[in-house]
Amino acid sequence: MAGAGRFAPSPTGPLHIGSLYTALASFLDARAHGLAWRLRLDDLDQPRNDPAALDSILRTLEAHGLHWDGAVQRQSEHLERYAAALATLHMTGSVFFCTCSRKQLRGHSIYPGRCRHRRKSIAEAAVRVRVDEAVCEFTDLAQGQQRFPLGETTGDFVVKRRDGPFAYQLATAVDDGDADIVRVLRGRDLLGNTPRQLFLMRLLGQKAPAYAHIPVLLNPAKEKWSKQTQAPAIDDRKPSANLRTSLALLGLSPPELDLEGLIRWAVAHWGLRRIGHRDRVFAIR
Ligand code: GLU
Ligand code: ZN
Repeated sequence: MAGAGRFAPSPTGPLHIGSLYTALASFLDARAHGLAWRLRLDDLDQPRNDPAALDSILRTLEAHGLHWDGAVQRQSEHLERYAAALATLHMTGSVFFCTCSRKQLRGHSIYPGRCRHRRKSIAEAAVRVRVDEAVCEFTDLAQGQQRFPLGETTGDFVVKRRDGPFAYQLATAVDDGDADIVRVLRGRDLLGNTPRQLFLMRLLGQKAPAYAHIPVLLNPAKEKWSKQTQAPAIDDRKPSANLRTSLALLGLSPPELDLEGLIRWAVAHWGLRRIGHRDRVFAIR
C-alpha cells in the first residue's frame, strides 16, 4: 500500500464519542482511498498521559473493527528523529533560542521577536522557528481554501519547550512525513495547527499530506466533547450501536448489518461532502 492515513490520539483517557467519531472518519477515509491506516499515540505531554489509556484505546478500536496497519507508534519513542529535525532547522538558520520569561511574553499574542538574534544553542531556552513573511496556503478538503500569513497568525512559534519536550507541531510534522501520511483527517479544532506543520514540513523538505478538518462534536453547552467536558468512555460492549451513532454523525445511514458488514458498507459510501463543515451538538442520553 502506498501512503497512509492516521489516527493520533493523545493517551489522556479512554476514547469517547468525539474521538471514536474522528477515529472512524479517518479509518473510512484511508480505506476508501486504498491507504493504510496507522495508529500513533501523541504521548509527549508526559504529565497528561494516563497509563491505562493505551490499552483502553487499543481495545476500543479493536472492538469496533477499526484495525490499524503495522505497529502502534508512540511519539515518546521518536525523540531521536525530532532531535535530528531540530538539528536540521538549526543548521539552516531557521530557529533561535528564546530566553523570554512568561512575564516578558505576557500581553503578546504574537511573539515580539526579542531573541531572534540568539542563533547559538542555549540550554535553558525554548527553541522557536522564524516565520518571517511566510504565507501558508492550502485547500482543506473539508473546510475549503485557507490562507495564513504566519507572521500575523502564529508568529515565531515554539518547536521545543524550555523544560525539554519537543512541541506537538514539530513531532507531528516529522511523524507524518516519516510514516508517509498522505491524508490527515482530524477535528476542525486543529485547523490552526496545520500552517505551522506545513511550514515545518517545507523547511524539512518533506512532502505535504492533504488535510481534511471535519466538524467537531459539541456537548449541549456547545463545548467540544472531551475528557475535560466529562465525555463518558465508549462502552465496548455495544460496538454496532456506537458505530451507527458515529456513522449518522458522518452523514451515513447504513442498513441493518453486522459489524464487519457495517464497516464495509461505510467504506463504500464514504464521502467528505456528506459531513458538511459545521460543528454539531450531540447530546448523550
Ligand atoms: N493528539 C491530537 C489530539 O488528540 C491530535 C493530533 C493530530 O491529529 O494531529 O488532539
Ligand atoms: Zn525570547
